[in-house]
Amino acid sequence: MTSRSTELFAHAQKRIPGGVNSPVRAFRNVGGEAFFVARGEGARIWDVDENEYIDYVGSWGPAILGHAPEVVVDAVRDAATRGLSFGIPNPLEVEMAELICNWMPSIEKVRMVNSGTEATMSCIRLARAFTGRDKILKFDGCYHGHADTLLVKAGSGALTHGRPSSAGVPSAFADLTISLPFNNAELLRRAFQENKNEIAAVIVEPIPANAGLYFPRENFLSILREECTGNNALLIFDEVITGFRVARGGAQEVYRVKPDLTSLGKIIGGGLPVGAFGGRAEIMDQLSPDGPVYQAGTLSGNPIAMAAGLAQLRELERIDGWKLLDKSGAQLEALARDAIKNANIDITFHRLGSMFCLFFAAAPIVDLASAQRSDLKMFASFFHVCLKRGVYFAPSQFETGFISAAHTAGDIEQTGAIVREALAKL
Ligand SMILES: *Cc1c(COP(=O)(O)O)cnc(C)c1O
Repeated sequence: MTSRSTELFAHAQKRIPGGVNSPVRAFRNVGGEAFFVARGEGARIWDVDENEYIDYVGSWGPAILGHAPEVVVDAVRDAATRGLSFGIPNPLEVEMAELICNWMPSIEKVRMVNSGTEATMSCIRLARAFTGRDKILKFDGCYHGHADTLLVKAGSGALTHGRPSSAGVPSAFADLTISLPFNNAELLRRAFQENKNEIAAVIVEPIPANAGLYFPRENFLSILREECTGNNALLIFDEVITGFRVARGGAQEVYRVKPDLTSLGKIIGGGLPVGAFGGRAEIMDQLSPDGPVYQAGTLSGNPIAMAAGLAQLRELERIDGWKLLDKSGAQLEALARDAIKNANIDITFHRLGSMFCLFFAAAPIVDLASAQRSDLKMFASFFHVCLKRGVYFAPSQFETGFISAAHTAGDIEQTGAIVREALAKL
């Protein structure tokens, strides 16, 4: 009997390129067919064929309280009854701006947008205008959304599909983007010397989470800060994933490095399409209508999206979510490490708080090149065994797993047993 997911995917492929609205969803890196989700509650999702999974994708990050958390759903319902969108300033925008500036002190002013891509794209435009320079420096494997300038050696879906730089990006644009290996201070210094007074900004995921998950070496982010300051370039932290996930103040709080601009997304929308970018007032004041940099959005600051995001962030704070998430992360880590030892395969397990990645490669993994040593065939087998047993990890080696506050100790225990079994089978 054909499953409902298979039927839907056949229809989808006729009308949607690749059958999906975002490439990684297509399962190309692991083979097989994507499933269609019917509903989610807490840590679990159910597909249209009524299969149940413990979900570690969490909508690729936003679902930090799990699926359909009551506080967020109530806030959405409540806001919706008062109107869906106005294109007129609303009070929730001010509340959101104040919350973001309070939680991330490097942000003095912030503007809301509708996706992470819009946020990073706007940071780049702003940085170029503020410095009067054109070049942008990024790092191999860091993904900053799909704007032209940033789709050079990008991570995430771009990597999974084997084309880290996209067709359709004019070489004149790509030429303005320098991409370097992450964690290499020497190459960074050299790039600044070779492009004297030409680099507008360095953009970085302070904790790269789009080519698997790896970490900045000691001092790497401070060196970035020093080099940017010394060369009058701006430092942009892309905290679309890490913002409000790794700590209340994001990765910049954890590593104590203050960027000039920060992009946010995912979690701040509570599951609705939201992004934000902000930073030093002097830079943000360059934006229209005060300054010459144009940036706008019909739905930006949408009241329902603001209500959802505010409800999620406040609940996270109320329950001391970061402590809770770290505890669950530690539980999963202990179980995974034990399973790895038992299986005796070259696997590197990385975790920070509620983010984790299991690389099918020997340590150390410190940049894109080392992440790419992973055995993708082995990852695909592992993924499918877990999926079959009811654990949904991201369908690519080059993604990060996310634990939510709704994952119980029982869910994680069950996951640990399934991971152990899956690894032992390889
Ligand atoms: C997801 C992501 C983006 C892009 O956000 P979208 O909302 O998908 O456009 C940008 N930067 C990072 C670090 C991301 O993980």
